[in-house]
Amino acid sequence: MTSVQRIISPGATLGVLGGGQLGRMFAMAARRLGYRIHVYCPEGDTPAAPVADRIFHAPYEDLDAVRGFARTVDVVTFEFENVPSATSEACAESVPVRPEGRVLHLTQHRLREKGFLRDHGFPVTPFRAIGSLADLQTATRELGLPGVLKTASFGYDGKGQRTLRDAAEVPAAFDGLEGEEGIYEALVDFALEVSVVGARTLDGAFAAFPVFENAHAHHILDVTVCPARIPPDLEAGARALSRGILEALGVVGLLTVELFVTRDGRLVVNELAPRTHNSGHLTLDACVTCQFEQQVRAVCGLPLGSTDLRRPAAMANLLGDVWKDGGPRWDRALADPDVKLHLYGKAAPRPGRKMGHLTTTAPTAGEAIAAVRAARARL
Ligand code: AMP
Repeated sequence: MTSVQRIISPGATLGVLGGGQLGRMFAMAARRLGYRIHVYCPEGDTPAAPVADRIFHAPYEDLDAVRGFARTVDVVTFEFENVPSATSEACAESVPVRPEGRVLHLTQHRLREKGFLRDHGFPVTPFRAIGSLADLQTATRELGLPGVLKTASFGYDGKGQRTLRDAAEVPAAFDGLEGEEGIYEALVDFALEVSVVGARTLDGAFAAFPVFENAHAHHILDVTVCPARIPPDLEAGARALSRGILEALGVVGLLTVELFVTRDGRLVVNELAPRTHNSGHLTLDACVTCQFEQQVRAVCGLPLGSTDLRRPAAMANLLGDVWKDGGPRWDRALADPDVKLHLYGKAAPRPGRKMGHLTTTAPTAGEAIAAVRAARARL
């Protein structure tokens, strides 16, 4: 196949598994480039629905519906990684799936993911598989306390995890797994959490965005700033890790690497997400190419766009909690002309639910953070 034939050109139809805000912003970027978008998602009334050309509403397990969806598109990608393997395999019968289902399969399971990283020489915290109380007792003895116990599958935003500080907590923590397979990780003494969104094409071209520095609140991403306030060697090291991991996995598409920067200046990989990432939302307003356009380019075989940061930027998430005292005062947040508002079109503002975000750009990272926090506080 020549490289010309590998290109999925504007006018083609892109399929997305998942209909949340990442799918919505992907669809908006794809439409701008002249593609059509079909979204497959089990839930009704999702953020991607109003901006998609067609919605397929059915469970991921309905493989006939999945095959029907795949037959209407030219390529399938993801905005949500906890899709069953059988779903991506059913799509792959008729069209390329990018990244491939095996990448999804690996990143859906913390033990598989950390095992792969460790075996390929990427830095991860020591960890053990937990299938019994005895396993957890041995793991806490060997790796020490404190440590973090997580479910091996389907965890995100800190769900299904607990920090253990004392051997007396071990039995209750094991019971908390409720029979699910677990992973026990040595606690990382980190100074900062950062992430790198990298993209790779079928031809092996690679581009990473500048490193994002992330602050969490209650296990949910709260504020991201770029450039990250880390030395140039760590910035380069994080981007090199991103490249190494995408190449080792043979990713075609986007993949986000979440990392810890330890107090003694090392990088430790925490998690992989085979898709765009909340920390990359500031690329919409601050980079030459946004992460969603980069996903379109990567999965369609187009040349990757420049990831250069035009201006330091910060992003603050807007959770449903912002609505608790009545409707937010958007006019107050936007009184600063450098503030950009992004809302995902979700009807019900439940506490903890990601409803939208604000981005600011400023002469320095510190000023961008101060401005975005101030804008959110004015809501
Ligand atoms: P995760 O669900 O693995 O992304 O973890 C959610 C958050 O918990 C991370 O962003 C960290 O703040 C914290 N965390 C997870 N694993 C560890 C670890 N091994 N050591 C220290 N903090 C951790």
